Amino acid sequence: MTATYPCPGIRVVRGPDWAGRDQDGGEGHVGTVVKIEDSDWAKGKVSVIWDSGREFQYRAGYDGKFELLVFDSGPTGDQVKGAQCDGCGEVNISGMIWTCSTCTNFILCTLCYNTERHDTDHAFLCSLTINSPL
Ligand SMILES: [Zn+2]
Ligand SMILES: [Zn+2]
Repeated sequence: MTATYPCPGIRVVRGPDWAGRDQDGGEGHVGTVVKIEDSDWAKGKVSVIWDSGREFQYRAGYDGKFELLVFDSGPTGDQVKGAQCDGCGEVNISGMIWTCSTCTNFILCTLCYNTERHDTDHAFLCSLTINSPL
């Protein structure tokens, strides 16, 4: 399927691999994820519109780099860390995490989300996760 990501506009700030200098308007400024790249060559990249109105593309798992941190991940924030995929069983999913808004505690990695291992009538919320390489 050609996935149209129902991304709800995650709020983000600059992360550990930030390389965008002052594109965000300065440290501590908040932006909104507007697009998640799903083509093969750009997987793991997202586009962000900063509150200043400027739009740029950043790495969210691409090349193993995480330029963004989730600023306000809401009530699921704590569960996301070290999450296990309910599709393939992978622990510590990196990059994007997909949480089913219908089922309780149902989480998929991007790969499983894209390969439809779940009821496609269920809406998914996506969030960014940061995994320590250590
Ligand atoms: Zn998976
Ligand atoms: Zn579900």
